Amino acid sequence: MNYQKFYQASIQEPETFWAEQARLIDWKVPYTQVLDHSKPPFAKWFVGGETNLCYNAVDRWLETQADKAALIAISTETNSEKTYSFAELHTEVQRMAAIMLSLGVKQGDRVLIYMPMIAEAAFAMLACARIGAVHSVVFGGFASKSLATRIDDAKPVLVVSADAGMRGGKAVPYKPLLDEAIALAEYQPQHVLLVNRGLDAMKLQQGRDVDYASARAQHMDAQVPVTWLESNAMSYVLYTSGTTGKPKGVQRDVGGYAVALASSMKNIFCGNPGETYFATSDIGWVVGHSYIVYGPLIAGMATIMYEGTPIRPDAGIWWSIVEKYKVTRMFSAPTAIRVLKKHPPELMRKYDLSSLKSLFLAGEPLDETTSSWIAEELGVPIIDNYWQTETGWPILSVARGVEAKATRLGSPGVAMYGYNVHIINEATGEECGPNEKGVVAIKGPLPPGCMQTVYGDDQRFVQTYWSNFAHEQLYSTFDWGIRDADGYYFILGRTDDVINVAGHRLGTREIEESISSHPEISEVAVVGVEDKLKGQVAVAFAILKHPALAETPEGSKALEAAVMAVVDKQLGAVARPARVHFVGMLPKTRSGKLLRRSIQAICEGRDAGDLTTIEDPSSLQQIKAALSH
Ligand code: ATP
Ligand code: MG
Repeated sequence: MNYQKFYQASIQEPETFWAEQARLIDWKVPYTQVLDHSKPPFAKWFVGGETNLCYNAVDRWLETQADKAALIAISTETNSEKTYSFAELHTEVQRMAAIMLSLGVKQGDRVLIYMPMIAEAAFAMLACARIGAVHSVVFGGFASKSLATRIDDAKPVLVVSADAGMRGGKAVPYKPLLDEAIALAEYQPQHVLLVNRGLDAMKLQQGRDVDYASARAQHMDAQVPVTWLESNAMSYVLYTSGTTGKPKGVQRDVGGYAVALASSMKNIFCGNPGETYFATSDIGWVVGHSYIVYGPLIAGMATIMYEGTPIRPDAGIWWSIVEKYKVTRMFSAPTAIRVLKKHPPELMRKYDLSSLKSLFLAGEPLDETTSSWIAEELGVPIIDNYWQTETGWPILSVARGVEAKATRLGSPGVAMYGYNVHIINEATGEECGPNEKGVVAIKGPLPPGCMQTVYGDDQRFVQTYWSNFAHEQLYSTFDWGIRDADGYYFILGRTDDVINVAGHRLGTREIEESISSHPEISEVAVVGVEDKLKGQVAVAFAILKHPALAETPEGSKALEAAVMAVVDKQLGAVARPARVHFVGMLPKTRSGKLLRRSIQAICEGRDAGDLTTIEDPSSLQQIKAALSH
């Protein structure tokens, strides 16, 4: 089919278009209205319809593929591997749901899930969906303070957690952090359900804490019927990564989300029942919600839940999983591929990867070097896709389930169906022409699956996302981009990453792209730093492919000059960074996003700000050390 036609239909006749997509899921009660957009920017999809995410992910596959694999939990940390069939998953989810009910969880109540990547975490999410409770998964790596903020915002009656997670072979205790978070929080959850993995000694608090294994033993034969929910009931709250500041509680519905996932699994990710999907993300992020737990299962696929790093026991581990479970579609992030690229390619060439049909990458800009390298190694299409926690599924990509459209290096792709994407000139509020820079904005209504509102704060939803352009109420992605004449978009960075050098507005991402094209650079971060003369100047922090090159002051100086020359040539002297520092590591969030805000703060001698999501705090020391040279 012609994608352009498909896309146009979604924009011009959204109701007809989405009614067709809605047939991809099972409804208990049909909806009476496809779209209610009477109070923009709020959009209600499939009004009056009743369905259930857990039913669509699990129960509806029992008839045709009860014994086929549904959830494959692999941990290279504890060296365990377990496959749950759809029937077994159904049983476990009902046991978990029965425990929740016995602990007083009711429809609409929030349940906070603070768990490592173990099967029980997926049981907990699906159990909530089954009984109409609202889950809020908090990434297991978060420290007690950020956990406490989320407890106070979500007010969960129950917290589901574990004794510990494991990373790089070391146990990472969860329970003590959780206890500390609850002590810090104003709101007090009634119960804490704890999976004891035997990794860390746990002290249970009488009356509050419940041991999962003992509770499960009480509910072995539990049968918990599905609670049918109106399409616009709340399914979950997920806080954004917090790269740019205070995390926002993204609230999602039931029916629209189920339809968006079923539809994107078919049209974008091309997954079929009986195949295996492997997304390497974490349930704490939106990719984990959409494409580890709900999406693949709704599509009748087996999904892999992976606890571990990409390089332990060695950098071949993911590819051994692809071979063993005949993974057809894989989803990861550029940052993980960059890590793999540093290891000998023989480790991945050892495995039979013939089952794999494509690799999807998202979460941050995919640079051309990384993309070309992995495409060469795997010999399958590498599909970039751009989206946000807020949207729940891709805004930009190529929908190869509709048409085998070509990808374009450096571009996440074209506007996905349902998204009326525009590039808007920030200053004038007008639409930009081809190759003209502006803010990536979406004209409402947002398609099914996108956020309903900011949890508990409709006004913040309108204020934050829909009030950035003078002429029109448009959704702002806060990303800066361009669209070429063929409709391919290029993301140039976040709007708050724009720097102003003597009146010239430059995207940090553009300068980074340019610097990355120097053959010795493996990764780079550019920030705008206050300058008395020019307002701001660009400062770069780069990681070298051969760090030894910058060991001597002469070597470092020569490289710095070479890098500056590249920028001069490609972007012009205004974009030339005032300094290029060489470091061994860059500060990133646990989801692989660059913390430019913190780098900038350090450069300007300010406090680095909220660092709860940082992957490795020593990366900030490296920035400080580089500056003092
Ligand atoms: P916060 O909103 O709290 O600051 P965040 O924006 O990092 O956090 P996410 O919703 O996880 O949280 O990330 C979405 C952002 O990630 C996008 O707005 C964009 O900046 C970036 N991004 C995601 N995918 C891509 C991609 N394929 N190419 C370029 N950038 C991407
Ligand atoms: Mg964001």
